[in-house]
Amino acid sequence: MFKKILIANRGEIACRVIGTAKRLGIRTVAVYSDADANAKHVAMADEAFHIGPAPVNESYLRIGKIIEACRISGAEAVHPGYGFLSENPDFVEALDHAGIAFIGPSASSIRAMGLKDAAKALMEKAGVPVVPGYHGDNQDPDFLEAKADEIGYPVLIKARAGGGGKGMRRVDDPKDFQAALTGARREGEASFGDGRVLIEKYLTKPRHIEIQVFGDTHGNAVHLFERDCSLQRRHQKVIEEAPAPDMPEEMRAAMGEAAVRAAKAIDYSGAGTIEFIADVSEGLRSDRFFFMEMNTRLQVEHPVTELITGEDLVEWQLRVASGEVLPKTQEQLSFSGWAFEARLYAEDAPKGFLPAIGTLEHLALPEAIARVDSGVRSGDEITPYYDPMIAKVIVHGPTRDAALGKLLAALEATEVAGCVTNAAFLSALCRHDGFSKGDVDTGLIDRDLEQLIEEPDVPEDAVALAALAALGLTRPAEGSDPFETLAGWRIWSASRQFALLEIAGDRRDIEVRALENRRFAVHLDAKVKTYEIVQVDGPALTYDCDGHRARAKVIAGGQDLTVFQNGHAFTVGLPDRLSGDEDAAGAGDQVIAPMPGLVKVVFAEAGEDVTKDQPLLILEAMKMEHTLKAPRDGTIGDLLVAEGEQVTDGTVLLALKEEADAAA
Ligand code: ADP
Repeated sequence: MFKKILIANRGEIACRVIGTAKRLGIRTVAVYSDADANAKHVAMADEAFHIGPAPVNESYLRIGKIIEACRISGAEAVHPGYGFLSENPDFVEALDHAGIAFIGPSASSIRAMGLKDAAKALMEKAGVPVVPGYHGDNQDPDFLEAKADEIGYPVLIKARAGGGGKGMRRVDDPKDFQAALTGARREGEASFGDGRVLIEKYLTKPRHIEIQVFGDTHGNAVHLFERDCSLQRRHQKVIEEAPAPDMPEEMRAAMGEAAVRAAKAIDYSGAGTIEFIADVSEGLRSDRFFFMEMNTRLQVEHPVTELITGEDLVEWQLRVASGEVLPKTQEQLSFSGWAFEARLYAEDAPKGFLPAIGTLEHLALPEAIARVDSGVRSGDEITPYYDPMIAKVIVHGPTRDAALGKLLAALEATEVAGCVTNAAFLSALCRHDGFSKGDVDTGLIDRDLEQLIEEPDVPEDAVALAALAALGLTRPAEGSDPFETLAGWRIWSASRQFALLEIAGDRRDIEVRALENRRFAVHLDAKVKTYEIVQVDGPALTYDCDGHRARAKVIAGGQDLTVFQNGHAFTVGLPDRLSGDEDAAGAGDQVIAPMPGLVKVVFAEAGEDVTKDQPLLILEAMKMEHTLKAPRDGTIGDLLVAEGEQVTDGTVLLALKEEADAAA
């Protein structure tokens, strides 16, 4: 076994690998960019090397720097995590050359599976069923369109070098084919430097079921059962589970065998995943699953397999890479119970799932209920440079129902302030009827999106607590600072004050009158309710309102307050009384960059009439394209950016004429 390894990654996966290495007594070396100097993975490792500025191609993708760090530190092997260099055969060869082991498959295995088209051809040969479609060399647009006609609509255009759902376009109508082809190529080119595509039949009721495989350098290969990753948005996984609901034993065996055949066809060693798509228009059937692609690395969702099998897949990777045989044979492997993983992201679900950035002013992860794999701590920043994942919340239970209940409880116990997250969306998924019954397919989220991202009204108690907190009235009565105590509770106890809050886009001035003994009368719309602050413990408050005693947490960020209660987080703004109501007035008239990015395409021209939700620009941020739409019907006044321009978040990209002007 290795004595020292380097982890060529960051975030949760770097921390996860370091955890297992420590348990096995292996010393660890981290690498970091400027943006990560104080990151958790750096703090966890025994030593760490700075490898460059924040952008990934100047740091985490620099092969030379990583090899140099191995040389200086004496690391014998490199774990690549996922993403970054994990599926880069040139990296593996460079390591081979330097005499450093790669904790993963050989360069030739990676190459064989690196491009979706070549991989499909190879699997066809090995007798593994593949999705019907065209995966040849001819990339002429008219030829591809003719192939799409032959395959029959709907079709899916996929960048052959694609991954993470990027470079994919579904086309329902032949007239949209060419535009979709251009989009898929552009994204493939931008993300992977390869604009070539393949065309597949688009299955209308599919499930994504993948098999975890493992090979060693002694010719053995096994599978560790399936994961169902059908809950997706824009072809990206949201919640994964293992095993797959309603999986017939015969189909599980057929898929497992096909996956092992696939692994053996390329002499695979290490952890890999064979992704299949199952056509479930008539339920799960052994003759209706097709190879989609192989990921030649550890997957983000590997923990669900770990929880049902009891195996540590990173330990397996380390053993296999150091030359040992697989820790178990197929017969020795079994699974029990059910596991789920939810991906907690800094993203704004109601605003089209835009990735968000910010400082995690407060972070409470549900470690008492779940396994939590996270690469950030309270106070850390989510930057625009990397994947905005905050944590993976992973649970195990004896049955699917029990595990799903645990997942919901864990998500409800998750508290993040300072950055919007998809926690409410994930909780809504756990409560979704179809999903609770195990009736999943990849279209579920899209079909019920509106219901899943619906934002509940801010409850009266949360408004009242935010108002009290905004006025500094929720501080402990016996604070260490006597003046604070006086200010909060005594001096103006007989007076009234107003808290200006911005709630769901509206400004509200909430009147608060201090009564005696930490009791306050709060004016809420038409009624006045009396709140008594019973106990204060940091941000946690116990209060009483009309004989109902309840708890909440109120956390102050820079310009807002977040109230956590009953598994929900409500954020209200603290607008400056002196500033006008600009945001509210201006918002509807402008298209603003929600995050830093590159203006990829501008569809509109100054003076053009547009209708609400018409796409106006494409902003590329974090390698994904985001379509920005018209906020209302109107006429474009100023176009303030041009294609190719790099913008910071908050930049006004385009302004609509004021309604009065437009009418004149
Ligand atoms: P990536 O490598 O970008 O993750 P995949 O080929 O693995 O791309 O596909 C990602 C997801 O897209 C799948 O999980 C599935 O939901 C959907 N998908 C892929 N191929 C098809 C298809 N032929 N029909 C319907 N959906 C598909």
